[in-house]
Amino acid sequence: MKNTLIVLGSLIISCCGTSQSSSTSQNKLDPKTNPSNENESVVVTYAESITAKELKEYLYTFAGDDFEGRDTGEPGQKKAAEYLKKQYQRMGIPSPLGEDDYFQEIPKSYFRGDIQSSENVLAYIEGTEKPDEIVVLSAHYDHVGVDSSGNIYNGADDDGSGTVSLLEIADAFIKAKKDGNGPKRSILFLHVTGEEKGLYGSRFYTENPVFPLENTVTDLNIDMIGRIDEKHEGDDKSNYVYLIGSDRLSTELHEISEAANAKYTKLDLDYTYNAKNDPNRFYFRSDHYNFAKHNVPIIFYFNGVHEDYHKPSDTPDKIAYDLMAKRAQLVFYTAWEVANRSERIVVDGAKEKK
Ligand SMILES: [Zn+2]
Repeated sequence: MKNTLIVLGSLIISCCGTSQSSSTSQNKLDPKTNPSNENESVVVTYAESITAKELKEYLYTFAGDDFEGRDTGEPGQKKAAEYLKKQYQRMGIPSPLGEDDYFQEIPKSYFRGDIQSSENVLAYIEGTEKPDEIVVLSAHYDHVGVDSSGNIYNGADDDGSGTVSLLEIADAFIKAKKDGNGPKRSILFLHVTGEEKGLYGSRFYTENPVFPLENTVTDLNIDMIGRIDEKHEGDDKSNYVYLIGSDRLSTELHEISEAANAKYTKLDLDYTYNAKNDPNRFYFRSDHYNFAKHNVPIIFYFNGVHEDYHKPSDTPDKIAYDLMAKRAQLVFYTAWEVANRSERIVVDGAKEKK
C-alpha cells in the first residue's frame, strides 16, 4: 500500500454476507472422474490446498532479512524477483513472455527520481476454452527497503501477504489444470514492482500490456491481507476483509464475490473504504487502480492499516495465517467463478475515458 496522508473517516458502513450453507451430501468427488468446473466439491478441494502452513513457509522466506526490504531497483528486490520465478518454475507454471523469461523489464527512465531499472514478474496459466480472455491476479512485491540506521523493512503484510497468496492461488489453479479442471479463461499472475514509489509497475503493465486490456476481464488485487486492524480486534470481529471497488465497474463481479463468500469463506465483507467519499481514498492507492482507470473491473482485498504499517516491525510473526488463508481462498473462489462462467462478466459501470 502506497503511503499518503491518512485522515480517519468516521463513516462506517458494515455489510456482512449472508450465510448460506451448501448441501454437500455427496462425498468429495474425484476431480479426474468429474471434470465439470461447476462442481462445487471440486473447487473446494483446490481452494483448501491454500493453507496457512504453506503461506507461512513462503512468507518467512519472502519477508526475511535476506531480501533487504525489497526496495524497487535494489538488490533485495531483484532477489525477491528471482525467488518468485523459481517458485513458478517449481510449480510448472510458465511465463507468458516465453521460456525462462518471467520478467517484464521497466527501464530506469520510466521512474522519476533516483530509482534503478526494475521488473514485474509474470506467470500464466492458459485457459482451456477462452484462452484470449485474461483474469489478472495482482500483488506488489516491492517494499520500502532499509533505512539509514540499517533497519530492514520486511513488509510481511505489505505486501508479502499478497505476494505469497498469489503463489498459493497459482498452485491451486495448476493443480486443477493437471487434474483436467483447468480454468476456461487464462489467468495471469502479475507481481508488480515500484508500488511503494507510486504504483509504477502496474502503470507500466497497463501501458505495455502483455495481453490486450480489452481482453482483460478483471483484476483482483491483493495488498495487505495478513493482519487485523484496530476496528476488528477481538475474536467476534476479526473474521473480516475490506473489499474496495467491487461494485464500481461491474455489478456482476460484485455479485460473484458476494456469492462466493456467502457460500464458501463466510468472512464479514467490510465495505467501509468503498464509500465514494471515504477520505482515505484507498481505491486510488494500490495497483488495481491502473486497471480500473482503463475500465477493467477490479476488486481490492485489504486488511486496513495497523500499528506496524510501513515500519520495520511489519514482520511475519505478526501475521494471522488462518485468516490470511481464508482471505486468499475468497480471491481464489472469485477468480475461479470469473474464469469459468460461460459468459464474460459484464462491465456496466464504465466511465468515459479522459
Ligand atoms: Zn506500502
